[in-house]
Amino acid sequence: GGAKERSEYGRYGNPTVAEAEAALAALDGAEDALLFSSGMAAVTLVLLSFMSSNSHLVITNDAYRRTRQFCTQFLKRYHVAATVVEAGDYEAMEAALQPNTRLLISESPTNPYLRVLDLERVADIGRRHGVKTLIDATFATPINQRPIEFGIDLVLHSATKYLGGHNDLLACSIACSDALISLLRQQLWMFGAVLDPHNAYLLLRGLKTLALRV
Ligand SMILES: *Cc1c(COP(=O)(O)O)cnc(C)c1O
Repeated sequence: GGAKERSEYGRYGNPTVAEAEAALAALDGAEDALLFSSGMAAVTLVLLSFMSSNSHLVITNDAYRRTRQFCTQFLKRYHVAATVVEAGDYEAMEAALQPNTRLLISESPTNPYLRVLDLERVADIGRRHGVKTLIDATFATPINQRPIEFGIDLVLHSATKYLGGHNDLLACSIACSDALISLLRQQLWMFGAVLDPHNAYLLLRGLKTLALRV
């Protein structure tokens, strides 16, 4: 009779995946979180969702190689321009912003050189220029760093690493506001790179020992 909320179809939601998303939102202190089938599925989907032709993004130089490759090479095909700035040079970061800049992306700590960014400063630069900020916080885990608390818009964790913790799953979470999650969820339903329920179960198992392991 429609009185009870239920999952219709795997790509549009699953109770185990929803449990894992709620746990990750709580860990990051975010309104909501969304799970993807891998870190790169999340990185590429967020970029394709926010960028459009003739838009521009700023990314810091020490970044996961595939992320950098997608930003600086693949997106060119769609006339999306990228400026790479030195991680830690906030003047360069601000100077790189253009009227068509949509996204400011960095890792913190960066992979592989472990550069830690001043997240308050990054959030402030984004806010003053109306540019969304994304921090890939995979290397910190929410135990050591919660970028949302510093005003960052979107936080990404490749759950394949510390969150899963057993090297037996691939997954990724994006934590942010309800409004941004609804937008990304719609796109994810189209792209299809959802996390499958068994991996969500393995991830929930991994999270039980996250604090202890980290
Ligand atoms: C591993 C990693 C990714 C990619 O995650 P996958 O789950 O392997 O696709 C993205 N960012 C950082 C910082 C990583 O270490």
